[in-house]
Amino acid sequence: MDLLTIKDYVKLRKEELKIKIASLKRAPKLAIVQVNDDVASNSYVKGKLKDASELGIEAILIKLDEKTSQDELLAKVEQLNEDISIDGIIVQLPLPKHISEQEVKKIIDPKKDVDGFHPLSSFEACTPKGIVSYLTYLGFEFSGKNAVIIGRSNIVGRPLAKMLLDRSMNVTVLHSKTKLEDRDRFLKHAQLIVVATGQPYLLKKDVPLLKDAILVDVGISRVEGHLVGDIEPRDDVLLVTPVPGGVGLLTRLSLMENVMEAYENGISC
Ligand code: NAD
Repeated sequence: MDLLTIKDYVKLRKEELKIKIASLKRAPKLAIVQVNDDVASNSYVKGKLKDASELGIEAILIKLDEKTSQDELLAKVEQLNEDISIDGIIVQLPLPKHISEQEVKKIIDPKKDVDGFHPLSSFEACTPKGIVSYLTYLGFEFSGKNAVIIGRSNIVGRPLAKMLLDRSMNVTVLHSKTKLEDRDRFLKHAQLIVVATGQPYLLKKDVPLLKDAILVDVGISRVEGHLVGDIEPRDDVLLVTPVPGGVGLLTRLSLMENVMEAYENGISC
């Protein structure tokens, strides 16, 4: 059997999810809170609303003025925490400068924190979850292999490192303070490389890598009107995930799976 591309894999999983959701007593419900009006956030929110509607998830968008105070936002989130008709809550990032991201993340009920941002969240962070699920589908054998993750953010690098460690990989996490010669020494032995920095083509195509390496490109930047990843395209390794049409689709799928899971957790307790 030929293995599916990310695009086709996500399509298949969404079809399965849609069937599962159609069999539920009621539609799972997601609340999206947005406190900005920037172009990128509007487009991410639009994508989430579209996914939800395709799958039979009820999604509501609560768009607040950029001048909303931190207290007002926290009060809104608390109200959604209390609302038993809501299964999942996401607060779209970035937030205006006068609002602390940490305070907002802390207040979302962990049982409804479908982005998986809070350490106590009942859910896996969406991007790492999506990456691991696709690698698992590909039949990638995690145990004993070397993984290098470039980027140590709380939403990608760190949670992914834990998930790969839990699967018995040897995990190295690199970051902006890593010296290039050290980076390339680690990369040379890695069977799995995940780059999540937001630095266009940070990993150049001439860096020597294993022939059977899998490269996962998380980064997404706009350069001269085009979306580009953190990895310069190359064809001398086993796989490089595309940008766009790669990890972003997996992340969106994971979010919808988490909403479904939140619904299931809610009815079983
Ligand atoms: P972040 O800004 O929080 O963290 C960036 C990380 O990259 C930091 O840990 C930093 O140390 C590291 N870094 C920066 N420059 C570096 C360099 N020159 N060498 C090595 N490391 C370097 O970013 P984030 O939120 O994790 O997002 C990273 C990128 O991934 C962004 O482009 C973001 O848009 C994208 N992203 C995509 C998805 C998706 O679903 N496709 C999801 C999350 C993030």
